[in-house]
Amino acid sequence: MTVPEVVAPTSVAELARVLRDRPDAVPVGGGTLEVPRWADPRTRPATAVLLAGVEGLASADRLGCGAAATLHTLATDPRVPQPLRAAARSVAGPAVRSLATVGGNVAQAAPGCLAAALLALGAEVELLAPGRPRGWTPLADALAAGEPRGAVVLGFRWHETPLGAVFRKTTRSQGAGPPLATVAACRFAGGRVRLAVAGPDIPPHLLAVEAPAPLIGPGAADAAYLRWLVRRQGRLALEALLDTTAGRSAGPSPVDTEKGN
Ligand SMILES: Cc1cc2nc3c(=O)[nH]c(=O)nc-3n(C[C@H](O)[C@H](O)[C@H](O)COP(=O)(O)OP(=O)(O)OC[C@H]3O[C@@H](n4cnc5c(N)ncnc54)[C@H](O)[C@@H]3O)c2cc1C
Repeated sequence: MTVPEVVAPTSVAELARVLRDRPDAVPVGGGTLEVPRWADPRTRPATAVLLAGVEGLASADRLGCGAAATLHTLATDPRVPQPLRAAARSVAGPAVRSLATVGGNVAQAAPGCLAAALLALGAEVELLAPGRPRGWTPLADALAAGEPRGAVVLGFRWHETPLGAVFRKTTRSQGAGPPLATVAACRFAGGRVRLAVAGPDIPPHLLAVEAPAPLIGPGAADAAYLRWLVRRQGRLALEALLDTTAGRSAGPSPVDTEKGN
């Protein structure tokens, strides 16, 4: 297989120079989806820019993560809040998770498990593109605008950790196979709830950012309500999905699988 010219910047400044000088350079996170495309000359880029060695991009903590943080890191670092940890844990097997990155997952958009979790957290995304100021944008707005097309995702941040979180994936068979729909929800102080959905045929987006106040009670009532909300919205998302893919919906009944807390 002929490979592209590979550039491996070690700082964001160097990365910015690469993007400016080679506008056709394709970013590579873990390469789990991108590298197999190189087998076909029609989808092989002239230049690939590796993000793994860019300083600061592989880290993760309580309130943010770099785009090159691997799903393994997100799944195993106890500082990473649910539902992002659960989302990362739910993807593929250990070999893929050790390579795949959150930036690649969000850029790919489908099935978008990590994007759903980040939306539920209220994340912002930092984008870098030639001719544009580097900056943070709400992820929901960025995705709605078709980002990160033409830009490199540098990282994600959120401003509060949830008091409770749920991450659910609906798959065709018991907990295995690609998801049909993913739902992530977070409950924050003051009874605020943010709920997001994604799937192979559902662009990651927010379904709800607030819950009706009377339905939110203290303690267990909160958790019960959150569960109800996720089930209800998840079912609605799945129904919408099956409507749009009616021709492909034959087969075993989808099974609801809870992953994470
Ligand atoms: C067996 C298997 C099961 C999977 N199951 C799921 C699942 O259940 N849910 C789910 O959500 N995903 C699933 N995936 C997808 C998996 O999460 C992706 O392989 C992974 O997220 C891609 O990440 P990567 O870092 O390897 O991306 P790459 O392969 O490096 O890149 C993918 C695309 O994103 C672009 N890109 C990469 N990083 C950036 C960046 N920082 N900024 C802008 N663009 C960028 C690349 O140019 C490329 O177009 C599965 C994959 C496999 C192989």
